[in-house]
Amino acid sequence: MNLEDLPFMLCADSNGKIYDHPYFRMAGFSGSSPMDFLEDDLTPMPEFSKLFFVPDCPPIGVDPLTGEYVIVPEIEIDGQTTRCFAVAAFIEPGYVRSHLPAVDYSPKGYTLPMWGYTAVGFENKGYMVAGFQMEYNHKWDPRQYDDRDLIPAIKEFKKKRQPGPLTEHLTNCAVNYHCFAAKNLFLKRWEAPLPVSRTCNAGCLGCISLQSHDTCDSSHQRIAFRPEKDEIVNLAVDHLSQAPDGIVSFGQGCEGEPLTEFHLIGDSIQEIRKRTNKGTINLNTNGSWPYRVRELAEKGLDSIRISMNSARPALYTAYYQPKNYGFEDVVASVKTARDAELYTMINYLVFPGITDQEEEIDALKGVVNKTGVNFIHMKNLNIDPHLYMKTLPTSDSRTVGMKRMTEIIRKELPDVKLGYFNQPVR
Ligand code: SF4
Repeated sequence: MNLEDLPFMLCADSNGKIYDHPYFRMAGFSGSSPMDFLEDDLTPMPEFSKLFFVPDCPPIGVDPLTGEYVIVPEIEIDGQTTRCFAVAAFIEPGYVRSHLPAVDYSPKGYTLPMWGYTAVGFENKGYMVAGFQMEYNHKWDPRQYDDRDLIPAIKEFKKKRQPGPLTEHLTNCAVNYHCFAAKNLFLKRWEAPLPVSRTCNAGCLGCISLQSHDTCDSSHQRIAFRPEKDEIVNLAVDHLSQAPDGIVSFGQGCEGEPLTEFHLIGDSIQEIRKRTNKGTINLNTNGSWPYRVRELAEKGLDSIRISMNSARPALYTAYYQPKNYGFEDVVASVKTARDAELYTMINYLVFPGITDQEEEIDALKGVVNKTGVNFIHMKNLNIDPHLYMKTLPTSDSRTVGMKRMTEIIRKELPDVKLGYFNQPVR
């Protein structure tokens, strides 16, 4: 890309006020190092994106004359020279980032909260982000979620039944965590959540419900009780029998690993299917117990989404820190689910500089060919980029760029679908 055509670099002052730099241009990282932008890497920032600044850490910009990457510790504002800090974006759901923000993390002594930090710049009155749209799905479009409709819907929902602890938990998720799935329960449409598990057999570096590592606060409070089967079944039957494209999903951001409660889930599924045949019963899981996946398939599960940050066992283990299971169990669960004819999805937690390494693409192709998985979610991994790169074992495998990675997968694995959101299967 012509340097003069690059958007201007952004930076922020210590109050978080954002400025576009008058000279330096936007830069982006792949892993821990700068990577040039290609023409189609940049796109106008979608409306429901967020902007962050990175305290203590100066931005890195491009000198449009030399092409050099430069750390920019200060900026002149109204004649005053002041320290400046890097700016990053969190892109609206459905977009995959191609570049991480370009940041000098050396002064950083804290861990950033869990967001999908993305490179962002400014040009012609608009922000430009480094990313591309993976899937548009109106059911996950933030414009469809107006809380002026939600509160009356919750009141109406609770008038019609005696709300139990799970309903109260999901009210908090809908109102305070702004979980779209929880809002859908009360709005009686699309995908709704059924969290059930308090514990987990993994210790993900970026776990959003429990941060045992003294890093940063988890973004959700993990469910602290075991819901009753009756409440689970009643909520699910009501939802599936009424909601257009209805899905109920076990395995949410506000819980541990649902397979730790496979008896409760299995019994609930059987009860649900006695009362309605409508909609999809889905499970989002870390896929650590293949035999429990088989049992839930036999009890009536329709679809499954199994998460992984990498198809390379060493990188998987470094992030998930699994207890009493390994990456081979996760792959076995994907295969078991396909053999049981579940609609099987991988929740691929993608990261520029890791996911687009040739070694990773080969490993992913191996998993897809071995299992016959139907769908791959290309989900931006929400984590402090510096922490992630420090933790993962390094590999000097060549990177091809995130967009190019998706083109390779689409061309070489035409039977697997790439997207971003859960798919109804009934
Ligand atoms: S598998 Fe889920 S609940 Fe368990 S540690 Fe990872 S993100 Fe957290």
